[in-house]
Amino acid sequence: MLPQIGETGQEKLGSARVLIIGLGGLGSPAALYLAAAGIGELHLVDGDQVDISNLQRQVLYKTNHRDKDKAVVAAQQLTATNPEVRVHAHSRMADEAWLSALLSEQNFDVVLDCTDNLNIRHIINRVCRAQKVAVVMASVRGFSGQLVSFDFRSSDSPCYACLFPPAGETTDLPEAENCATVGVIGPALGMIGSAQALEAIKSIVGLPFTSLNQLQLFEAGSLEWRSLGLSQNSTCPVCG
Ligand SMILES: [Zn+2]
Repeated sequence: MLPQIGETGQEKLGSARVLIIGLGGLGSPAALYLAAAGIGELHLVDGDQVDISNLQRQVLYKTNHRDKDKAVVAAQQLTATNPEVRVHAHSRMADEAWLSALLSEQNFDVVLDCTDNLNIRHIINRVCRAQKVAVVMASVRGFSGQLVSFDFRSSDSPCYACLFPPAGETTDLPEAENCATVGVIGPALGMIGSAQALEAIKSIVGLPFTSLNQLQLFEAGSLEWRSLGLSQNSTCPVCG
């Protein structure tokens, strides 16, 4: 019924293929909204099992899912939401070789980075850029959220490493700073994960999406959004 989407837009959603990496606090709401919107095919990547401590923020899972593979449970939950979506569960962590192979064999319209690991984020950035696929990235720490998208079908697109150059390969900062150790306010993940689904839908139906080449910063305490424009960094180790 929305004039911005219409029948043509709904058909585009129905024939779209989306990859969601990380089915935690961001991936849960993002996947639910994309399944409900009638995305044709969803691929879900997560190597973790459900823990009771996840339920504060990972709204796909219930207490009876404890110790089960997140990707498998998420696929069941999304199929229950919309049986017409073809859902593929990949119960594993995304490494560079595997992700490259998946992206070259599947023609994804957009990738959602819903992980909370900086090393994996840099891998997703490199692989999506090499394969010319659009990506919507997000993270939330405490009360602060970030959202940014890149469309690598455009050769002059900036990338995540233009903004945050990768640290040394041996850093263990991502583990030290993830949601499980720093803490995060659950509804902020709901907002940012929903915003990722929103941006993915806009990119699929061809609407302008605000987070493209724009770092969107959200503060849950004040409910304020700020936006920083990005351009390609000539010294970027990935795209410069
Ligand atoms: Zn770059």
